Amino acid sequence: MSKVNLIESPFPLSQIKGLGPKRLAVLNELNIYTVEDLILYLPTRYEDNTVIDLNEAEDQATVTVVGEVYSTPTVAFFGRNKSKLTVHLMVNNIAVKCTFFNQPYLKKKIELHGTVTVKGKWDRRKQEINGNRMFFNQQVTESAQFEPVYRIKEGIKQKPLRDMIRQVLDQATIHEWLSAELREKYKLETLENTIKALHFATDKSSLLKARRTYAFTELFMFELRMQWLNRLEKTSDEAIEVDYDINLVKHFIDSLPFELTDAQKHSVNEIFRDLKAPIRMHRLLQGDVGSGKTVVAAICMYALKTAGFQSALMVPTEILAEQHAESLVDIFGDRMNVALLTGSVKGKKRQLLLDQLNNNEVDCLIGTHALIQDDVKFNNVGLVITDEQHRFGVNQRQLLREKGAMTNVLFMTATPIPRTLAISVFGEMDVSSIKQLPKGRKAIITSWSKHEAYESVLNQMTAELKKGRQAYVICPLIESSEHLEDVQNVVELYESLQAYYGTDKVGLLHGKMHSDEKDEVMQKFSNHEIDVLVSTTVVEVGVNVPNATFMMIYDADRFGLSTLHQLRGRVGRSEHQSYCVLIASPKTETGIERMNIMTQTTDGFELSERDLEMRGPGDFFGVKQSGLPDFLVANVVEDYKMLEVARDEAAELIQTGVFFEPQYQTLRSFIEKNLLYMSFD
Ligand code: ADP
Ligand code: MG
Repeated sequence: MSKVNLIESPFPLSQIKGLGPKRLAVLNELNIYTVEDLILYLPTRYEDNTVIDLNEAEDQATVTVVGEVYSTPTVAFFGRNKSKLTVHLMVNNIAVKCTFFNQPYLKKKIELHGTVTVKGKWDRRKQEINGNRMFFNQQVTESAQFEPVYRIKEGIKQKPLRDMIRQVLDQATIHEWLSAELREKYKLETLENTIKALHFATDKSSLLKARRTYAFTELFMFELRMQWLNRLEKTSDEAIEVDYDINLVKHFIDSLPFELTDAQKHSVNEIFRDLKAPIRMHRLLQGDVGSGKTVVAAICMYALKTAGFQSALMVPTEILAEQHAESLVDIFGDRMNVALLTGSVKGKKRQLLLDQLNNNEVDCLIGTHALIQDDVKFNNVGLVITDEQHRFGVNQRQLLREKGAMTNVLFMTATPIPRTLAISVFGEMDVSSIKQLPKGRKAIITSWSKHEAYESVLNQMTAELKKGRQAYVICPLIESSEHLEDVQNVVELYESLQAYYGTDKVGLLHGKMHSDEKDEVMQKFSNHEIDVLVSTTVVEVGVNVPNATFMMIYDADRFGLSTLHQLRGRVGRSEHQSYCVLIASPKTETGIERMNIMTQTTDGFELSERDLEMRGPGDFFGVKQSGLPDFLVANVVEDYKMLEVARDEAAELIQTGVFFEPQYQTLRSFIEKNLLYMSFD
């Protein structure tokens, strides 16, 4: 099928006036191959050169002001080819010293007592403007007042690029993407006007209007695709109905050493509804650290067994796989045949296991990504669960989806996805949330101490150990590196704590250790043969030692909020009061703020929202790999409300089936073929 164009041009890119082969090559480097690409090559930002009154300008702001020249400009040369031009201006009755670096040619153009317009950074205290541009007519001309700025490369400048865009925009046909109803309903512009305004806006309000329409369009297209995908996944012919035995499942739940929380029950019900329905489940189970997702997974896997199916549980690390296997064997007793497959299961042992799996002698297989290798063949798999989903890249997620193409999938994550991102990143999935911790849990008390207070933190830790509890000491790095000399070396810390508490009381865990060694240490800590575990972030994910009630995080400001939260989640797993002490002497505002946020809240959902606010969606933990497209204009955080609306509208179109009527044929093919700039890997 040929590429569907919603933008048509009467001529190809190569026939644009003023575009020789050299420039064409540069455009190609910018990923511009067609007229459509060029038209959708939107400015990355706009320069606002609107003149303001200096009396109202904030300190350190970039300002554009008009002033009268009252000193002859002087130029001082220094270094190689460097210069500084100084000129004094009277701006809104303020005497301002203006400097321009490396623009000596300005001197000739500046007339004493003439008027100039200057753009630069205002330093109120020094009454100085560090200029970067100078305009010489009375005012900035209208076209220069609001300038689009494109990402460019050597070989092409802003203006010619802009001229080319103007040329093609004048001649191309831009088909409308949104229905008239939608445009009417949300007061949106036509796409043609929108794109033109994005390139040639002369004022802020028309730009904002265009931005709004374009953002909506992007989000709407994205959501259409997500909803469509969701529908395809669910209505596949190969869907299986899991006819579980509810009585057996109830028995099993009754056999657990605790009662399920309401949130756990609710999630189980949602999952069971999916299992029983003739659809392929495609669900995300998100629950804060310690909320008890594992047991929910266990109940589901058991339900599968009662219906005659096998299930798989995939986890990101071997330590976690082993822990899960152990605790599941505990929980299931002889109800289920649990097997463990990791990278360290090799040779004959592995072959035996694979045979058993193939003969349906294994009910539940737990493992790392070793699970999705080619030779792993289930007899009858009805459910695949991934734990700590955020640790898997999108590839594994996809691979899993392909591998288990005919089965139900449950993704579990302990990184609560901010509400804002959940519907975009996981927009094609259903979501269950466990927003409640098991009964009797006391909120972890988090405090923040500077490095000087290390001794007293140590005393606090000793007091906990004396009560029979255990402690984690977390350290950012394994070996000291040149750049991070001040980072406490985990080995050093380990040795000093050994000296303090006794050699056999303290264990060490880090990523560079052999997996046997890691297991041994973890086992010892789990059995309370050691009191203190000094570790890097390898314990971040999933580890469950309820007797550990104290955590000290060294140089905590080097971790992001999500990581800190994950780490902290290793304590607070029993009815005992738990503590988390952050040791940090942050030097940046963000560092300080992060420490403060950590001491203020233990709610992972709130933390993830704050983390998102502080870091932006691009940097948010795991988001990069989760398939969220790079929108040209829309921002999933700022435009969240719009995203919700777009989602509802898209869902309506898909669910009512209107989207599959002839009038949407073009849009459908378009979304299928080339979702404008939206890369889904
Ligand atoms: P996570 O959601 O972080 O994976 P886990 O499944 O590891 O949490 O559960 C944390 C701890 O809470 C485990 O020790 C588990 O046995 C316990 N737990 C789970 N559900 C409950 C419950 N309803 N009541 C009491 N303890 C529970
Ligand atoms: Mg877990």
